[in-house]
Amino acid sequence: MCRRSLASDSRHKFCRDNDDLEIRISGIPVRGVEIDSRTGCFHYRSAIDIVAIKFKCCQTYYSCFYCHQEETSHRAQTWSRSEFEEKAILCGACGTELTICQYLECRAICPMCGSAFNPRCELHYPLYFEI
Ligand SMILES: [Zn+2]
Ligand SMILES: [Zn+2]
Ligand SMILES: [Zn+2]
Repeated sequence: MCRRSLASDSRHKFCRDNDDLEIRISGIPVRGVEIDSRTGCFHYRSAIDIVAIKFKCCQTYYSCFYCHQEETSHRAQTWSRSEFEEKAILCGACGTELTICQYLECRAICPMCGSAFNPRCELHYPLYFEI
């Protein structure tokens, strides 16, 4: 018998199920809308959309820029050049954190596991990094 009171659970109403919003990769929480186990999300879900980005503003990994936008009420802050040695990229395939430098220089291939990243992410770099 489950002893947990149902009264507290009934407060959930229609808010989105939290299980869809956060996963853990190598113990690191990653948030995103309908996020899957390799950090694909509602906005970007293909075999190569496997990178999560840590946002400077909240020091939290999100699957993509739009996930951050939907889940928070603040503006995303970009990483400045002097911070490119920060680990702010997470490979959803091997769970390794990469520095921004490593990511920008990796030519869309994870330097740790060799998985292909989406090369078109490059179009969105200005959303995340000061470049
Ligand atoms: Zn933020
Ligand atoms: Zn997303
Ligand atoms: Zn990897």
